[in-house]
Amino acid sequence: MGEMSVSLDLSRLQKAKPAEKREETQVRDLIIVGAGPAGLTAGLYAGRAQLHPLILVGQSLGGQAATTSEMENYPGFPEGIGGMALAQQMADQATRFGAEILYEEVTGVDLSSDPFVVETYGPSYKAKSLIICTGTSPRKLGVPGEARFIGHGVSFCATCDGFFYKDKSVIVIGGGDSAVDEALFLTRFAQEVTIIHRRDRLRAGAILEQRARDNPKISFVWNTVVEEILGENAVRGVLARNVKTDETSTLEADGVFIYVGLIPNTSLFKGQLELNDAGYIVTDKRQRTSVPGVYAAGDVQDPWFRQTVVAAGAGAAAAIEAARYLSEKAYEEEEAAAEQPEQPAAEPRG
Ligand code: NAP
Repeated sequence: MGEMSVSLDLSRLQKAKPAEKREETQVRDLIIVGAGPAGLTAGLYAGRAQLHPLILVGQSLGGQAATTSEMENYPGFPEGIGGMALAQQMADQATRFGAEILYEEVTGVDLSSDPFVVETYGPSYKAKSLIICTGTSPRKLGVPGEARFIGHGVSFCATCDGFFYKDKSVIVIGGGDSAVDEALFLTRFAQEVTIIHRRDRLRAGAILEQRARDNPKISFVWNTVVEEILGENAVRGVLARNVKTDETSTLEADGVFIYVGLIPNTSLFKGQLELNDAGYIVTDKRQRTSVPGVYAAGDVQDPWFRQTVVAAGAGAAAAIEAARYLSEKAYEEEEAAAEQPEQPAAEPRG
């Protein structure tokens, strides 16, 4: 076969305009923003209701739950299941029933238009109803050194980064379930794990606390806050202050894991949906937000329980409500169309 000659008109390529932002013309029944346990379960239920939901994933599948190493309290898994494995199974189940999952990060929404508009870095989408399941993000400590060492010794995810601390010593900051759970996980790798808590009593549940107290690799530093993450090229420890005595000391460590609570991911909805003082979306018992047709489920509207099973239940409820809303809306539109006076027949031409 002879050689093929391909000539490229480079001048045309260089002059090409940046790609136009694509706008999907189709109006979807339902878009689900976020793919943690709430969003994926909403997708499963909406799929089974034949709504062909689009789930926009954002940064990663599974949300906060996917960062949990071992989930022992999600029903149906007596031996426990990894957070990421559970998320993947939920996603498989949702897609099996017709949900479409796209890795598109939502950059804006317009909840005043009909249909609603959802912008991403790629296309923008339109939908008659929305379920918001954007979850929460780890709260930062806000001390010197924290930002500089994120990804280089400061982490918010033991499941992701614990492996790098084999036979090393690490500090965990916080006293809630996350801090204790992840401290226990870190003992698989690290030689010693020090939990620094600002009070003298944990917020974490009794079972986790007992396991941590029984684990010879874990020790506690009570009534202490961290004022700085120390190090030059790598983390070498923290500057700690005892809140009772005001004494400061340096505690050495190779890595610092921060678990000081969560903040809701609701900046996209400020001014468009009712939020409470802490920034969580306000919903009623039926997952309805302040805008008809917009529902919220999971940690983004739940500062009380924040459990995977509760988020999944809320996602199911939101999808059931969205399906009801859509069928009522369709019925009302049909009624309104039927009440319109018939158009007079067009005059014959000529
Ligand atoms: P959390 O329950 O809000 O606990 C945050 C911890 O950080 C608290 O101990 C708090 O201290 C401390 N803290 C807050 N701000 C601080 C600061 N500036 N400096 C030092 N310490 C600070 O958050 P979480 O542990 O991430 O848990 C979130 C939710 O997920 C909870 O509902 C939890 O039950 C759930 N969860 C459950 C499991 C499980 O069931 N296995 C696992 C993980 C998470 P104070 O105690 O003094 O307020």
